[in-house]
Amino acid sequence: MAISRLIVDEDFDKAIALADTALEVLPQSTQFLYLRAIALCMKPSPECIKALDEFLAVAPKDHDKFPACHYRKASYYICVEQKLKFADSFKAGLESEKNQLPCFLPYQFPMKDLLMKFYAFGDIPVNIVENQSASNITSTPFSSSLENLMSNPQRKIMLLKNRELFLQLAARPNDKYNTVPKPANFPKPPRLASLKAITLKDINPTIDKMYDGYVLEVKIIDFSYLMVAINTVIEDENGDIQRLAVYNWPLKGDRKAEIAEAIKTFRPNVMVSIINPYMRLSSDMKNIIRVENPVYIRLDNTSADQKCTFCGKEAKVLPCSKCMMVRYCSKECQRIDWIEFKHKEMCEHLKNYLS
Ligand SMILES: [Zn+2]
Ligand SMILES: [Zn+2]
Repeated sequence: MAISRLIVDEDFDKAIALADTALEVLPQSTQFLYLRAIALCMKPSPECIKALDEFLAVAPKDHDKFPACHYRKASYYICVEQKLKFADSFKAGLESEKNQLPCFLPYQFPMKDLLMKFYAFGDIPVNIVENQSASNITSTPFSSSLENLMSNPQRKIMLLKNRELFLQLAARPNDKYNTVPKPANFPKPPRLASLKAITLKDINPTIDKMYDGYVLEVKIIDFSYLMVAINTVIEDENGDIQRLAVYNWPLKGDRKAEIAEAIKTFRPNVMVSIINPYMRLSSDMKNIIRVENPVYIRLDNTSADQKCTFCGKEAKVLPCSKCMMVRYCSKECQRIDWIEFKHKEMCEHLKNYLS
């Protein structure tokens, strides 16, 4: 239906407007209340909680989206660091699963495992995934020992999630994606030298704003996958991790050629300067640094290929003999990447894309 299509195409304002119009005629429609709430959830604001509550007030308790709406509330409360409300919403989600018809069980919600982890570790900071500062475990900017990297749970979660998506997309080579029109009214980017430095922990994920006059220097730490945007994982000088989505990057050729170019251009250890960075809540309710106009990023790949794909150390690196795309400083890095970080599955796909 039209509203879901608009949401998939990330045209949230139009989706909300259309749902509003529909609700004027059918104010109790759970379908429109739900879609309106989903569209609102794409930007973090108390509005989305209100919309989710409106759905929950009207929908029958066994509605298949009932638990999902509680989990969406829980995800929002994590982002704004309201621990108690998070716990309440998550509990309500679990509780409401009991009302589901057996055909909807086990109940699927993409973020549930992660929410469960936060819930289970009630006394660790709830912002561990989005905003945990890893400053204390980083030795020098953009370089850290393997032990330190491995002891950062945020890093592992984000890398595994990125790789999971990479593999899912690789299994569906014929999916079609719309493009997001390049915003026409962007002024020319300022000179890098005139900008102030900013890091991920200075960027408030709950405020939907562009950090005008700032530059965020990051390093790519994983291979990218291509949907509407090029998506990858980045690390800043403090060792904080975040996702990056770059829209409208010029790619040429058929889909396979585009994917190959995206993988090569946005590969691990390439440094990225993001001008006027902008963090927002993505469609999966997690934060992402979003670049809509590619002239607002500068890439520097000067020493990318002299560094270990896995740990980032500059050393004598040897390529994986199968894909020739990853390079390792040690057997240890290769072993961990192969076994624990899915290179075993990624390898074949990287090889295929780049052949
Ligand atoms: Zn290494
Ligand atoms: Zn390989």
